[in-house]
Amino acid sequence: MSDLLTKRTVPPAVLEVVKGLQDGGFRAFLVGGCVRDMLRAQPPKDFDVASSARPEDVQRLFKKVIPTGIEHGTVTVVLRGEHVEVTTFRSEADYVDGRRPSKVEFHEDIEVDLGRRDFTMNAIAWDPNTGELVDPFGGQKDLALRTVRCVRDAMERFTEDGLRPLRAVRFATVLDFTLEPLTEAAIPKTLPVFRKVAVERINQEFVKLLLAPSVTKGLTLLASTGLLGEFLPEAAQADFEAVGRAARDEVIRMAVLLFGQPQPREVMIRLKFPNKTADDAAALVLRAPLPPAEPSDPQLRRWLSKVEAQRAPALLAVHEARGSLPAGFRARVEALLATNPPLTTKQLALDGKGLMDALGTGPSPAIGHATRHLLELVLDDPSLNTREGLLTALKAWKPPS
Ligand code: ATP
Ligand code: MG
Repeated sequence: MSDLLTKRTVPPAVLEVVKGLQDGGFRAFLVGGCVRDMLRAQPPKDFDVASSARPEDVQRLFKKVIPTGIEHGTVTVVLRGEHVEVTTFRSEADYVDGRRPSKVEFHEDIEVDLGRRDFTMNAIAWDPNTGELVDPFGGQKDLALRTVRCVRDAMERFTEDGLRPLRAVRFATVLDFTLEPLTEAAIPKTLPVFRKVAVERINQEFVKLLLAPSVTKGLTLLASTGLLGEFLPEAAQADFEAVGRAARDEVIRMAVLLFGQPQPREVMIRLKFPNKTADDAAALVLRAPLPPAEPSDPQLRRWLSKVEAQRAPALLAVHEARGSLPAGFRARVEALLATNPPLTTKQLALDGKGLMDALGTGPSPAIGHATRHLLELVLDDPSLNTREGLLTALKAWKPPS
C-alpha cells in the first residue's frame, strides 16, 4: 500500500522544509490528512509538517516564518511563495469542558504527537526523505477496512474534545467509510460533551458532510447517534434520501433538509451559516408552494413573479430532489422564462418618473398603487408592456379612494 507514498506527490517547497528541519538536526514528518489521502490514492488538500523543532528553532532555520499559532506550536514557513505549516510534536492537556485543550506540551517523539490525534487513519506519519512510515495505531489497516476508529479509547477521545464524534461521522460520510463499533457506541454516551462545542466548529464539519455524495448515510448516522438531535432537531423528520438526490450545493441541500420548517432562516443563523446562505435557503423553503396544477400562463408568471425568477432553477431543483415536481412543470417554466416576460416592477416599460409625469403628481402612494396595477396587467398580458400600452392603461385607471 505504501508505494502510494511517493515524493513526486509532494510539493517541492514542502520537501524543502522537511529537509531543512532534518538538516538542522530535528525530526520531521508529513502527518494527518495528507498522508491519509496519499494512502487512499487521493490528492491531498494540504500538507502538514510535524517536527521535533520548536517554533523558535523553525524561525531560526528559515528566512520567512509567520507565527500562525505559536502558542500551540504552529508556525508557517514561507518558501518561494508557498506556505508550509510546521507544528511541533505535542501532546494536549487540560481539556476544559470538552473544548480545545488549554495547554499543549512539546515533545521530541512523533509517537506522542500521533497519540493525541483523533482517528487512526489521521495518526500516520511519513518521512518523504527516508520513506519511514510511523503508524502506531493501525491506521493503514483501518484505511484498508474503510473504518473510522478512534486512536486508543473512543470514550476518552470523545470526552476530551466533543467535536470528535461529529468529525467521526463527517469522515465516515465524506470517505464513505463505516464507524468502528466502539467508536460509534461512544457517541451517544458523550453527547453532553458535544453540547459544549462552539457552533462555528460544528458548522465546518456539518457543511463538509452536507456536500458529500454520501450525505444520506451521513444524516442517517447523525440521527441514529443522537448528534442531529443536539444541534439540528428540526431536521429529525426530514427526507434524508431527498437531500442525497439534490445537487451538491449548500443552499439547495439545506432547503431540502429544512423543507416545511416555519423558520428556516433562524435555524440557519443559529447554526452560523453565512447570512446570504441562510437568506437564499430560507427563501426556497418559504416560497416552495407551487402554482395550481396545469397553471395558465398568467398563473405561471404570477408564481414566478412571487418566487423571483432567479430563484426558480434552485426551487425546481428542490422539488425535483423531493419528487414533488409535477411532470412537465420544468419545461413550462423554462419555455416561459425563455420569452423573458416582465415579472417585476423594475421591468415595466414605464419607470417611476414616467409614471409621475403621466399622472401629473410627485412621489405619492398613488404611484405605488399604479405600479402594482400595471404589473398585474402585464403579468396577464406581457404584450401590454410598451410605453404606449402602459400609458393607455393608465388612462383607464383610478387610484383607490
Ligand atoms: P481534511 O482533508 O478534511 O482537511 P484533515 O485530516 O486534514 O482532513 P484537519 O481538520 O485539517 O483534518 O486536521 C488535520 C489533522 O489534525 C487531522 O488529520 C488530525 O490528525 C488532527 N486533528 C484535527 N482536528 C482534531 C481534533 N479535534 N482532535 C484530534 N486531532 C485532530
Ligand atoms: Mg486538513
